[in-house]
Amino acid sequence: MDMSGWPYFEEMYGVQHNAVEIPAQANPCFLVVNGDKSLIWDGGFPDYTPASPSPGPHGVIVSMPVKLNDQLAEIGISPREIDYFAVSHLHFDHLGNWSYFKTSEIIVQELEWEAATSKNLENQIGYDSSITANLADLDNLQLINGDYDVFGDGSVMLIYAPGHTNGSQFIVVKLRDFGPVIISGDVIHFREELEHGVVPNFNIDAEESKRSIQKIVEYAEKLDGKLWIQHDPVQHKQRMISPQFYQ
Ligand SMILES: [Zn+2]
Repeated sequence: MDMSGWPYFEEMYGVQHNAVEIPAQANPCFLVVNGDKSLIWDGGFPDYTPASPSPGPHGVIVSMPVKLNDQLAEIGISPREIDYFAVSHLHFDHLGNWSYFKTSEIIVQELEWEAATSKNLENQIGYDSSITANLADLDNLQLINGDYDVFGDGSVMLIYAPGHTNGSQFIVVKLRDFGPVIISGDVIHFREELEHGVVPNFNIDAEESKRSIQKIVEYAEKLDGKLWIQHDPVQHKQRMISPQFYQ
């Protein structure tokens, strides 16, 4: 889906509206299949989001012509079969389809859970206390502290990278043929943030954000992997989407 139309883009992202090639974010979800186990990374916006551009939360214009449930159905997977639902952080644009994954193990950094459910932060831009209240009712929430090996074989690692929020993380997926892919969550939103060395002003901690950006760049270099900036609209257009896949 696309998100565009922020009235305060420059103020929010620290770069001029016209300095960004496409000032409209993509908002993808990622399915990882490892043998007979599977993981969804981030839940995007809810499938009931209109297909054509419409006003959404926080003054953002949203559109979602392709629905997650339809994409999963197309490849013969029911959301109920997904083993793990790992979330980069608990902002509303990453949890839209949370209700599909009530039977999955939901993996979140403990510091992120504390931030999203604390009385001080629950009204901070991005958190939606109605979603976190629903998640709190589930008994399959797994709170982790720091880096985490999802399948226990080193193929998929969650890496703690705070700054955008207290408990943000990114994911490293080591694919057999395509090689390592590092998917950013919201550690970076646009390629231009990297080029200009800026962090969005709505990040909770600018210095930690910069350290986490350095960390993700170092991971990509060290592993000789691809850095996929999740919301970046230009990269998004270049990536294959389901039913195509990388292996
Ligand atoms: Zn986001």
